[in-house]
Amino acid sequence: MQLTQRAKQVDRRPMNGWEKSYLPAILKGMGITISHFFKKKATIQYPEQKRTFSKVFRGVQILNRDEEGRERCTACGLCAVACPAEAITMEAAERQPGEEHLYREEKYAAKYEINMLRCIFCGYCEEACPKDAIYLSQTFAQANYDRKGFIYKKEDLLIPNPKEDPEAYRRAVGERPVK
Ligand code: SF4
Ligand code: SF4
Repeated sequence: MQLTQRAKQVDRRPMNGWEKSYLPAILKGMGITISHFFKKKATIQYPEQKRTFSKVFRGVQILNRDEEGRERCTACGLCAVACPAEAITMEAAERQPGEEHLYREEKYAAKYEINMLRCIFCGYCEEACPKDAIYLSQTFAQANYDRKGFIYKKEDLLIPNPKEDPEAYRRAVGERPVK
C-alpha cells in the first residue's frame, strides 16, 4: 500500500559503461553541492550569530524576584501540581526574623528543582503561579554532557538580583519583559 505520493520506483536496469565509471553520479553530486553555495544558508554561526526568538518563545524557567530583589516564590506547590511532566520538586521553609529582605512572604522555597530532561516547555507552571514567581524566559537550556547537569537547582533558576547585577538580570530575562 502506498502511503504518500513521494515513493520513487528504484531503477534496477544494468548500468552502461559510462555509468559504471561513476562519473555521472559524481558530477551530479558535485552539482548539488555547488548549487548550495549560492542558496541562502539555513544554518548560522552560533554563538557569534544568534537568532531572534519569536515573542511567544518559551525557554528555560527563571525564578523571579520582586522590585526589591526578594524571592517571590512561596513554595505553594501549584506549579508542581500543574506540571504535566512532573518535572518540578521543592521543599518549603519558614522565613525567620531578619530574613524579610530575602523572601517576600512567610514561606519560601528552600529547595526548588526542575528536571530539564522532563520539561516540555509548556508554560503551565508559569500560568499556575499565583505569585508571578516563575517565568519561561527567552534563553534556552545549555547543552550538557551529564544528565545530572539537567537537574536545575534553585541557584540555577533564581534570577540575579536586579539591584546588585542589572546586566546579569537582563541576560537572564532575555528579550521578554518580566511582570
Ligand atoms: S514548562 Fe511545563 S513541563 Fe516544564 S516545568 Fe513548567 S509545567 Fe512542567
Ligand atoms: S513558583 Fe509559584 S506556583 Fe510554584 S511554588 Fe513558587 S509561588 Fe507556588
